[in-house]
Amino acid sequence: MPRQSETSVPRSAGTASPYDIARWCAGNGWPVHPLAPGRKTPAANCPACRDEHHSPQDCSCHSAGRWCHGFHAATTNSALLDAWWGKHPTLGVGVSCGPADLVVLDIDAHSAAVPDRNRLLPGIPIHESVNLTGLASGFDTLALLAALRGRRSPADDDSTLRVRTPSGGLHVWYRKPPEGPRYRSSVGSSPKTALAWQVDVRSTGGYIVTPATRTSAGTYSPVGTARLPALLPDWLATELQRTGHPVNPRPAQVVPPRPGSPRPARKRAHRLLEPLLDQVKDCAAAPEGTAFTEKLNRAAYTAGGLIASGHLTDSQARDLLTAAADAARPHRSRHSLAVITSALSAGASRPLHFKGRP
Ligand SMILES: [Zn+2]
Ligand SMILES: [Zn+2]
Repeated sequence: MPRQSETSVPRSAGTASPYDIARWCAGNGWPVHPLAPGRKTPAANCPACRDEHHSPQDCSCHSAGRWCHGFHAATTNSALLDAWWGKHPTLGVGVSCGPADLVVLDIDAHSAAVPDRNRLLPGIPIHESVNLTGLASGFDTLALLAALRGRRSPADDDSTLRVRTPSGGLHVWYRKPPEGPRYRSSVGSSPKTALAWQVDVRSTGGYIVTPATRTSAGTYSPVGTARLPALLPDWLATELQRTGHPVNPRPAQVVPPRPGSPRPARKRAHRLLEPLLDQVKDCAAAPEGTAFTEKLNRAAYTAGGLIASGHLTDSQARDLLTAAADAARPHRSRHSLAVITSALSAGASRPLHFKGRP
């Protein structure tokens, strides 16, 4: 990773322009994409991409130099940086964490009801004798996890880039070895994959607001002296592993049953659908730019095929799909319902039969 651009890092958050920040990120090998002026969400799609559904992979806007589809547009191409931030200096800057080999811990300090003690650190029961009075935020749960492992909390890790957010949270940036496992993004409240309550993980399929970005809520300000991410500590890599964050490059396919162990067809239907539902739920990691509609469409299309072959009932499918969609986009339930209905009916024209079915 090139380091020569370190000197151009904004020491004082108020002086760097978004263009400077974008070039600094690209110089570090991190693909960047525009954020809406004054906001932490991606810049708007073009009208065609806003109005008609298609996957970012099938979109011609990127080759035409447009920034549609959030972090999918992220690039290190200097001509695009010139065209985007050079010409639109009010755009903010996001980094697509996956292709940048970054793992960023997003520690929240929001006031929220503290959940049951067994939901604070997924997979780690916290004994009744542990006094949790005063526990209020992701700073506390991450400190608790670190203490259990005999480590310093990442929030206090002054060897790495840390960025204070306008809402009082903290982004702790780490880089992962390029040859190491890729990690999925997660939100701390997810019942499926989470590191700690009020601590989100931003990596594959997620983006992060860059240091020195200004929004209407305030500035993302680097703290301490470190201005580059340190290598992800081994103990945190172990915790990400333990909590199911590594991404398996396992395609969703129907596995023929092993001889002598016939798997009930219904169970196999769920096995096929579950990773697709997980992808929908994982869109909760970011408010936009996660290809939510595309993923929901894919899951519902597959469910339609399973209904058509009798492996799933229509109401089971709708319950599973609606729950996944609402977990990721609670305010878009009407949109989700429309996507589910149309994809279920499209998928029904292609019944999914399992190979080797008795
Ligand atoms: Zn477009
Ligand atoms: Zn598009």
